[in-house]
Amino acid sequence: MNKPNIIFIMTDDHASHAMSCYGSKINRTPNMDRIAEGGIRFDNCFCTNSICAPSRATILTGTHTHINGVKTLGDKLDNSLENFPKIMQRGGYQTAIVGKWHLGQGEKHHPTGFDYYNVLPHQGDYFDPLMIEMGERKVFTGYVTDIITKKSIEWLKGRDKDKPFMLMCHHKAPHRPWLSDDKHKDLYKDEDIPLPDTFFDEYDNRSEAAKRAKMRVERDFNALDLKIQIPDGYEKMDSLPIPDDVTGLEYTTWEGEKVTFKSHRALKEWKYQRYIKDYLRCVAAVDDSVGEILDWLESEGLTEDTMVIYTSDQGFYLGDHGWYDKRFMYEESLRMPLIIKYPSKIQPGTISQAMVLNLDFAQTILDTAGMKSPDFMQGRSFMPIMEGKKVDDWRQSMYYRYWMHLAHHNVAAHYGIRTMDYKLIYYYGEALGTSGSIDNPTPEEWELFDLGKDSAELMNVYDEPEYFEIREKLKKELAGLKEEAQDNE
Ligand code: CA
Repeated sequence: MNKPNIIFIMTDDHASHAMSCYGSKINRTPNMDRIAEGGIRFDNCFCTNSICAPSRATILTGTHTHINGVKTLGDKLDNSLENFPKIMQRGGYQTAIVGKWHLGQGEKHHPTGFDYYNVLPHQGDYFDPLMIEMGERKVFTGYVTDIITKKSIEWLKGRDKDKPFMLMCHHKAPHRPWLSDDKHKDLYKDEDIPLPDTFFDEYDNRSEAAKRAKMRVERDFNALDLKIQIPDGYEKMDSLPIPDDVTGLEYTTWEGEKVTFKSHRALKEWKYQRYIKDYLRCVAAVDDSVGEILDWLESEGLTEDTMVIYTSDQGFYLGDHGWYDKRFMYEESLRMPLIIKYPSKIQPGTISQAMVLNLDFAQTILDTAGMKSPDFMQGRSFMPIMEGKKVDDWRQSMYYRYWMHLAHHNVAAHYGIRTMDYKLIYYYGEALGTSGSIDNPTPEEWELFDLGKDSAELMNVYDEPEYFEIREKLKKELAGLKEEAQDNE
């Protein structure tokens, strides 16, 4: 049999609860659904560090972020490290990456392992983006999602047809600041998007870390996020403080509409609608892109032997818990969408509850291509699960760590364990020598959630006597996972 082709499509910050194949209540993603319906949907895919650059480094190298050196957004990937595209390249694959890279630039950090690369520097722009094509800086005219799609398909068309290919198509969307293209700008214009169940969460019975996070829909967006004129006295990136009495508050939207608010609740709901509609418009453009790639594969007769993967670097809060953004180990940002279509190996309509991680992607892709993965990789191939084989010793728990203590959105660093039934999180505050706030130190604290009873994670049961036994058991298991992950800090 010929080696399979691989197309790995990854978006930035696309939560699975904004995909109709995952039962979204707020949007439709017909082309992404084609992948899920034609293949497998993983309901428990998690990232090991819920933030852009670290997740990408883990995917490429198959290692935890403290091993590959990209623990934070400020870290760059040492491009001399082994990664799965290099192994595929040596094994006869043509490889390419188009779109978001976010792992540094220059001689030591540009993409390696790729015959072709054309990537956005840093976060990249939504319109007329500057890109770095094989080391050369070029501005491309148009909308970033369309450009990434076009450049991906151009590379596919120009490839050597005697060799299998592996393409990583990495979209910027739907990352902040959620700028829509013209085609989708009026989508949802005359309707309200439903509010998430936990929209009015007040963080009672939760950690100080949750209470102190600055990622609230009501209070922490800036003018660009909301597409409103910057009020006098504020800078572009400033969040907009909320007066006690909001009835005197007036915003002017980019469309020129003046908006006032009768209550705090009305203000919060208005901000949610502004945010979520733009987010979903960006997702809609990505969905079109996915459709274009699937159609192209069909037109070339490549569908059967091509594995198409769709995922995102982490999840996101879509107003859940009254938040936007990510970072926390809570479900909405821990969970990654993961749908994979590969007709010659995966039965259509398969759904898996197996706990898989971004840490597994490198080994899974290498396994699919019939290649051995190096011993230093820390995940495991889930190809047998996709083929419907019974895997008795599959993992039942995972290790998570977020390192950027109070760096962005005032989120405290933490690590923890998620099992199929529980989640235990340790916010270590300044206890591990972490630099933090001296005036207002963050407490060292724990959270335990009983996911079977409380999937929304609204009740920390860490101090409930009936959970003492499970709590101590999980602490032991967490220590074991930390050691196994070779995290000694
Ligand atoms: Ca991201």
